[in-house]
Amino acid sequence: MADITLPMNLSKFAKPFRVTDGKSFHLQAIDPADTLGIESSESAEELLERGLKPLRDLQHQLYAQERWALLVVLQAMDAAGKDSVINHVMSGVNPQGCEVSAFKTPSAEELNHDFLWRTNHRLPERGRIGIFNRSYYEEVLVVRVHREMLAAQKLPASLVTKQIWKERFKDLNAFERYLARNGTVVLKFFLHLSKEEQKRRFLKRLDVPERNWKFSAADVRERKYWNDYMDAYQDMIRHTATEYAPWYVVPADHKWFTRIVVAAAIVDALESLNLSFPKVDAARRAEIKAARAALLHERRK
Ligand code: ATP
Ligand code: MG
Repeated sequence: MADITLPMNLSKFAKPFRVTDGKSFHLQAIDPADTLGIESSESAEELLERGLKPLRDLQHQLYAQERWALLVVLQAMDAAGKDSVINHVMSGVNPQGCEVSAFKTPSAEELNHDFLWRTNHRLPERGRIGIFNRSYYEEVLVVRVHREMLAAQKLPASLVTKQIWKERFKDLNAFERYLARNGTVVLKFFLHLSKEEQKRRFLKRLDVPERNWKFSAADVRERKYWNDYMDAYQDMIRHTATEYAPWYVVPADHKWFTRIVVAAAIVDALESLNLSFPKVDAARRAEIKAARAALLHERRK
């Protein structure tokens, strides 16, 4: 049953999960099962639909204006719902203005470069929304949990010290500040799933034939490192949550709630840009008038 008290805009769903100064951030502060009082997925769907309307209009202006770009970074443990966020939140936005890039285990060619190389040329151009399904943050997550991956990166030995993670945090902050100063708005989402809910979702992949294709034995093995991942995520958020590139730590045990928070944060960020359609100047007005006259003239012939 739909809540009659549903708010008109989604803003209040993003703020509680926004981290701009991570110094004292604790992952335990966010409950993966939180829904901020929304009780049913039906209410959530209605809310999301309402929230997506302004998103479509805002994207239209972003695209027409061609000044700002939006980079959406999605990070999460397996089965946390990255795909579902991409499908639902981006449904209805103009696909021409939106590009999704997924980052998997780096190729030999990618390992021959610095770690930002592969993500760099996937950054959104002005007017576009770029979604990173995993990102350069894997460099302080999976690579930190599995140290052998660092060895595969062929860094000069003298550069691999105990400080390497702190140095990477600093580099990521500097990179995101650079993007912000160039007109790319960076929003980062950690979809925070509980270990129990991940188990339920993995079991579903095994039990439901239509979901078998999603099952990966490697994902199940990775659960052994759960605590290491949580430590790495917490440390990453502590060091890389900034005003110019905030982290949103999004409860992910209920997919319908996750989508609302992500949509709300994106709408908030785009609204804060005060977008508008490009102004028509006198020369352009004259051009429009002439084109109109030419078209009308054509019809009379
Ligand atoms: P899905 O499972 O829904 O297809 P996914 O993002 O989990 O999506 P996978 O192909 O299952 O995709 O996994 C990609 C793997 O690549 C992850 O285990 C991730 O940690 C790993 N990966 C991504 N970036 C790096 C990196 N820079 N170094 C090492 N491993 C990485
Ligand atoms: Mg996977």
